[in-house]
Parts: sequence; structure tokens; C-alpha cells
Amino acid sequence: MTTFPLRSLRLRSGEEMRDTVQVALEPFVLGGQRYLPVPSSVDVDLVVQRATSGDVFRLAFATRLHGPCMRCLEDAVCDLSIDVREYHDADPEAGPDLRTEYVVDDLLDLSAWARDAIADALPEQVVCRPDCAGLCAVCGMDLNREPHTHSDEPVDSRWAALEELRDELAAGGPEA
Ligand SMILES: [Zn+2]
Ligand SMILES: [Zn+2]
Repeated sequence: MTTFPLRSLRLRSGEEMRDTVQVALEPFVLGGQRYLPVPSSVDVDLVVQRATSGDVFRLAFATRLHGPCMRCLEDAVCDLSIDVREYHDADPEAGPDLRTEYVVDDLLDLSAWARDAIADALPEQVVCRPDCAGLCAVCGMDLNREPHTHSDEPVDSRWAALEELRDELAAGGPEA
């Protein structure tokens, strides 16, 4: 877990601090599949702006998740660009809306914040390419490699009867 100590900051109202911090990122499970941030730790840009009423935190970084395409299960990547803010009121009595959950005991929990920010930024579907055709629902074959369709009409028993008759005719006709 990567945290940033806020107690040591000597900021006056109106001042700001910028720092680059290395944060370890955890894998994500999405739709039952595992998505791995590569590299597993990123340099995040952290800005702390002090106001009279409290602090504004800003976190910015870019990451790339690797995992299976949700349609065809081939390798897919998902590039994310994160830029989020949180406000933390200096007044401990201020409501939860004004006090970010990522500050605990004067430590800013960068790991938890980065994880939640990535989770919020994830697309609904991670795909290898926007027009991925996916797997065939009938036979499971990759439709990107072998585009095909199946006749979805159930085999008609009358056709089966005709086929039987045709086979008989081909074999020399029904036995008398
Ligand atoms: Zn795909
Ligand atoms: Zn098929």
C-alpha cells in the first residue's frame, strides 16, 4: 500500500505542492476475467493545494491493462488516462461529503485512490478491437478468423422423411 504523509507538508493557504509518487497497482477482476496493469506500478502526479477550509488533492497518471478480450478471449489492452480530484475539509466535524475517504490519520492512501479511479474509468467491455466479432454462440469458433453463420431453423422432420426417401431411391428404390 502506498500512502503519502500529509502531516509533513508545510503549506500555507493558497500554496500548492507537486510530487511524483510510485504507486503499486493491483490486478482487476472484471466480468470474471483478470486484468493486469502493466507495468504493475506507475508514477502518479500528485498535487496538493491548500485552501483556508481544507486541501484539494489531484491525482493524474496513465496506465494500461492487459487481459482477455471480453468477446473473443484473445489478448486485449485497455489504455486509461486518469485525472481525479478529492477535497478534504480541514474541519474534522465536516460531513463525509467534504472529507475524502482516502485520508486516514494524516495519510493519503494513494493505492486505494488509484485503484478506485481505475475502476471508475474502466469501459463496460474490454475488447481487442472495437469491431471484434467475438466467438460463435453455436460452435464457439472465433468469428474474427472464420466468419460464418449457422442456419438457426430446426431440422424439419418432413425434410428428414424426404431425405430418407431420396436415399432409398438412390439405392435402387424401395423393396417391393
Ligand atoms: Zn476480441
Ligand atoms: Zn459457429
